Amino acid sequence: MKVVFHDRFYEEYTADPAAARGRMESMVEALKGQYDFVEPEPATETDLERVHGQAHIRQIRKDAPLYDIARLAAGGAIRAAEIAVEGEPAFGLVRPPGHHASPDSCWGFCYFNNVAVAVRKLIAEGKIERALVLDFDLHYGDGTAHVFADSGEAVYFHPEAATRPAFLQEVERALQCPTPYDIVAVSAGFDRHRQDWGDLLATEDYFAIGQSVKEHALRRCRGRRFGVLEGGYNHSILGDNVRRFLEGLGD
Ligand SMILES: [Zn+2]
Repeated sequence: MKVVFHDRFYEEYTADPAAARGRMESMVEALKGQYDFVEPEPATETDLERVHGQAHIRQIRKDAPLYDIARLAAGGAIRAAEIAVEGEPAFGLVRPPGHHASPDSCWGFCYFNNVAVAVRKLIAEGKIERALVLDFDLHYGDGTAHVFADSGEAVYFHPEAATRPAFLQEVERALQCPTPYDIVAVSAGFDRHRQDWGDLLATEDYFAIGQSVKEHALRRCRGRRFGVLEGGYNHSILGDNVRRFLEGLGD
C-alpha cells in the first residue's frame, strides 16, 4: 500500500472546510511510519481535458495558486491509480476533493474531478476498459456521475442507506455489480462518520468497507484498487478513520 501525498496539500488554499488548517496533518500523523509515502506530479492540461471543458479549466486557472493545488490533487489521484493498475493498492491523500466537479462546473469545495481524471487517463492509455467507482462520502458525487453518465467507462455507486448494517450491505451490492470492471476506484469521504456531519458510521465500518473493496477486487479485477480522499471534516477522528480504511483495503 502506497500513500500519495505532497507537502503542498498542507496549504490553506481557500477558506472552506476541506482546506482547513490541521486537516491533512491529522491524517499524515496517523499514517506516517505505517505506509510508504510517494509524491505526485501535477496533472497535465491533457489529463484535465479528458474530463473538463476548456472554459472550466480557464476559469480555475484565473486563480493561479488554486489551479496549481487542484492540478496536484488530480495528479495525486492519477499516481494512486497507476500504482493500483500495477498491482499494489494505493491511496491519494489529496485536497481539494473532486467528486462535485462536473465537466463544465464545480461546487462543494471541488475544482477538478480527481477520480474521473485518473480513470479517464487509465482508459486513454489502454490500461483498463471500465472502472467501478464506489463513493462512500456523505454527499452524492454529482460531478463523477455526470462525467460518466451513459459512457460505459465507469459505473458509479453512492450508498445512502440510513443504518450502518444497511449501508455496508449497499457497499457489498455495489461491488457485486454484474457489469465487469477492471479496477475499483473509491471516492473516500469520511464525513458520514458518527462524529462528523453525517452522524452514522463507526470507525470500524471504514475497515469493513476497505475489506469489502479488497475482497471483491481480488475476485473481479486482479486486486486492482485505489482510494482518493474526498470529504471528512472532524480532524479529531479523521486520522483513525483513514487508517482503518487503509488497513481494510491493504494486503
Ligand atoms: Zn462530503
